Amino acid sequence: MTINHSRRKLLIFGIGLSLATPRLYAAQKAVRVSMMSDARQITVSLPAADKRSRVFRLGAPERVVIDMPVASFPPELEHALTVVRQKFPWIEEGRIAHFSPDVARIVLTVKGKPVITRTTENGVMKVVITEEGLAAQTAVQALPLATKAPLAEKPLLVMIDPGHGGKDPGAIGNEGTYEKHVVLHIAKRLQTLLDQQHGIHAVLTRQDDVFIPLYHRVSLAHQHEADLFISIHADGFTNDQVSGASVFALSEHGAGSAMARYLSQSENSVDVLYDNDFKTDDEYLKETLFDLDQHETIHRSMDFGSHLAANIVKVHHMHSPHPEQAGFAVLKSPRIPSVLVETSFITNKQEEKLLGEPVFQEKMARALAEGINSYFLNEKKNNLLS
Ligand SMILES: [Zn+2]
Repeated sequence: MTINHSRRKLLIFGIGLSLATPRLYAAQKAVRVSMMSDARQITVSLPAADKRSRVFRLGAPERVVIDMPVASFPPELEHALTVVRQKFPWIEEGRIAHFSPDVARIVLTVKGKPVITRTTENGVMKVVITEEGLAAQTAVQALPLATKAPLAEKPLLVMIDPGHGGKDPGAIGNEGTYEKHVVLHIAKRLQTLLDQQHGIHAVLTRQDDVFIPLYHRVSLAHQHEADLFISIHADGFTNDQVSGASVFALSEHGAGSAMARYLSQSENSVDVLYDNDFKTDDEYLKETLFDLDQHETIHRSMDFGSHLAANIVKVHHMHSPHPEQAGFAVLKSPRIPSVLVETSFITNKQEEKLLGEPVFQEKMARALAEGINSYFLNEKKNNLLS
């Protein structure tokens, strides 16, 4: 509303000015996009400690998404991007728009599968996007560079969400065990285990037996700029024979309805997750940006779920061996990989007993902590974390 409309406008390559030579763009300190003169590489420099700095790929069609933490982008950037399209035959299309008032997003639609390498030095994350053919020639040099990236200086933040609480007891076992209580025990054990590790910090959505609305749990994760969100449950089922743990990520269908909700003017979810200024009349732009994010996040959530499942199965049997997908409201963060873990069924006699035992709670918490570690290690290996 307070934003100048032109800043939100979707800009398509080819309609801007053309420049004779590729040029350098500097929006603010540590944020820079430059194009190599051989037209085969784009280098992006972003502040490494800023979690809004992101570069990732999306398939079908192949795209590279660059998020830059800048409040405004001058016309020079539009000009530079015009040059990219004209001089870089492997780039089919490019757009730039404000993803949120303080993040500018470039989306490049590319031919082939460009290679992305990341290095971090002196607080600056340098990302090099190389044309597929050239990447093959320089792969030997590019790989060691990428693996040398140091670990993040800022601790990775895990938001642990013990399900239910307060007036919402969750499921209740036949022996009178409350889901809201056992999941809080497991969540607190998980927090202790994670906080003992260097480089990881864990925060709970609730410390006590209090009611917290679902959207508020998602909002808390965003306020803390969480790297991961894990909701812990021990739900019930009408059939008391059903048993075992399950891991869920958001379904594409769920994402679709989540998007509808977020974008609906009558709902205030947009205000929770984004700045109020993000409200725009340009529905197409909002959907495009949201869709890109949610798609990438679901992919990472499923990956996170696989790491959890692989560790849970060592301490307890799984109801389903692979992560499943469902439309749980707490998983609807557009940007934070999120999963919901059903540690077991409180309505199953044996499992109700297990859930009340500190030994089982600790075993489950350890399995979750190991799954989280294993996911983070893999992300670092793939250079998805700065
Ligand atoms: Zn539950």
